[in-house]
Order: sequence, then C-alpha cells, then structure tokens
Amino acid sequence: LTVSITGATGFIGQHLVKRLQADDHQVRVLTRTRSKALVIFPANDFPGVIVAEEREWKDCIQASNAVVNLAGLPISTRWSSEIKKEIKQSRLRVTSKVVDLINGSPEAVRPSVLVSATAVGYYGTSETQVFDEQSPSGNDYLAEVCRDWEGTALKVNKDVRLALIRIGVVLGKEGGALAKMIPLFMMFAGGPLGSGKQWFSWIHVDDIVNLIYEAIRNPSYKGVINGTAPNPVRLAEMCDHLGKVMGRPSWLPVPDFALKAVLGEGASVVLEGQKVIPARAKELGFKFKYPYVREALKSILS
Ligand code: NDP
Repeated sequence: LTVSITGATGFIGQHLVKRLQADDHQVRVLTRTRSKALVIFPANDFPGVIVAEEREWKDCIQASNAVVNLAGLPISTRWSSEIKKEIKQSRLRVTSKVVDLINGSPEAVRPSVLVSATAVGYYGTSETQVFDEQSPSGNDYLAEVCRDWEGTALKVNKDVRLALIRIGVVLGKEGGALAKMIPLFMMFAGGPLGSGKQWFSWIHVDDIVNLIYEAIRNPSYKGVINGTAPNPVRLAEMCDHLGKVMGRPSWLPVPDFALKAVLGEGASVVLEGQKVIPARAKELGFKFKYPYVREALKSILS
C-alpha cells in the first residue's frame, strides 16, 4: 500500500510510519516543514518514506491508496484565546485541504479510504456517564472542536471509505500526556491528580497504531470508532498503578495547579475526563495488545 499521512511527524504519526514501513508499505509524510520531517525520517533509515511539503500533497494523495489525517496544534498548552482558535483552525484547515485534494482527484487515482483523527473530547466530560460511539456530543470547547473536525472530514466524497477515530489519551514513552505527567508525578511522589474520581480513557500507543492500521486495510472499519482501551480507569486508579509500576508510594495528591502548569488548560482532558467504551472496535473483533492499564504502563516504563 501507499499511505499519505498528515501529522506523521507527531507522536502517533511517527509510530504509525514505523509500523507501516516494517510491513513494507510506502509512506508519504505530508508535512508543513520538510527540514523538520527529514530529521525525523532520514532517507537512509526510511527508504520507503517520502517527505512532502504542502505544494506536493496533491501528487502524494493521488499516488496513495489511503490517507491518514492526524495533524493539529497540540492541545496541552496554555490556552490563550489565539491558541484556542488555532487548536480548532489548525485541524479544520488541514482536514479541509486533505478532503478537497481527495475530492478533486480523478476517480482513477482517488485514494479509497480516509482515516481521520478526532478525540474522546467529542463527548464532553462526566464522572458518571458511559460513552460509546452512539452517545451525543458534549457542550464544552473540545466537544465543539471535535464536532467541527469530524464534520469537515465527513465532506469527503461518498465513494471514499471514511473512518473517524475518536482517540483517548495515548500512553507512550516519548509523547502525549504521560510523558509530561511523569516528572510531576515523581515530584509529588505520585498520588491521584485532582479529585482522582475523574475517568481516564487511555490507549497504548501500539494499540492506537494497530487500530489505525486496521482501519486502513479492513473495509469493515467505517464511520466513528472509539480509539480507547476496553478498560478505562478512574484517575486515582491510574495513579496507583503508575506509582506501583514506578516503585513509588501513591499517597500525596498532585494538586490541580501543578498539572495545569505542565499541561495548561489542556489539563482539563485529564482533570475532568470521560468514560469511553470502544464498542465498535469490540464488534469489529479488534484485539487489544494492552487491555489493562497496569500492563500498558509496565511496557512503557520498563
Ligand atoms: P502531535 O502533537 O505529536 O503531532 C501533530 C502533528 O500535527 C505535528 O507533528 C505537526 O506536523 C502537525 N501540526 C502541529 N501544529 C500544527 C498546526 N498549527 N497546523 C497544522 N499542523 C500542525 O500529535 P499526536 O501524534 O499526539 O496526535 C495526533 C492527532 O491525534 C492530533 O490531531 C491529536 O489532537 C489527536 N489526538 C491525540 C491524542 C493523544 O493522546 N496523543 C488524544 C486524542 C486525540 P508537521 O509539523 O509535520 O506539519
């Protein structure tokens, strides 16, 4: 296969590129900045990978069987009103560009599938509700971002199979919320964050990569699919496991303000949270490598 990927230089993207390359697929890295992408994917180590700047995206897309859309300004920053706007606009801009390029492609060279990222923020936050793909959207800012982001992807030509992956908090060594939380956790000897009752719908980076990979290849993966592990935990439980895996006692709560200092308003994702169930992935028979958070954390921190 040939797969074009926006946001390929990011945390999930880099893992996905490596996974595709390991199976001998061709990858087109659709980036804003060639120089940065070439440092991440040097030609010698990535023979099947071509880095393309925006003016070359069209040719790449027309040479691809599949497009994966992951780009967007990271949300775990301090949210000024400009940044808040850019969190949304960056996603809409790139998604809209990708959709226009797919729709504008002659049928003979149009990719047959678009796998587009969105987030569990779609559902809003709750300590009591359980959300699956059928649940309605929430009414906070991130829910609005996700709705508009999905709405933009939904404009893709109806002949193109669209999989919208509502991604949970991705756990991995090099990126995402966990990498930022660990130093803090060490500092406070790792108790629960905030009240600890919030739900934490996590997924191991290997599983989100496998899910995206399946969505590329398997025609049954269509529509909205939650990208979360089957066993979400309350944050206190997550911190308890994190403490044990790291060999640290878990007793001093990490205060909200400290988490906000490293994650900015993006901390709301961890401080508020939602319980999301991967109902579609289960129906589709997707096998999670890490269904439980303890094993996921062990694999990452060992
Ligand atoms: P990263 O932040 O690591 O990477 C995102 C990529 O998007 C960057 O490498 C960059 O690519 C591109 N990008 C960054 N800023 C902008 C901008 N202002 N305009 C256009 N493109 C930009 O993201 P992740 O890999 O962590 O996540 C991938 C997607 O999945 C994101 O959209 C994210 O919102 C979503 N997601 C991630 C979760 C997680 O826990 N990681 C949870 C839920 C959803 P380049 O510089 O090459 O153009």
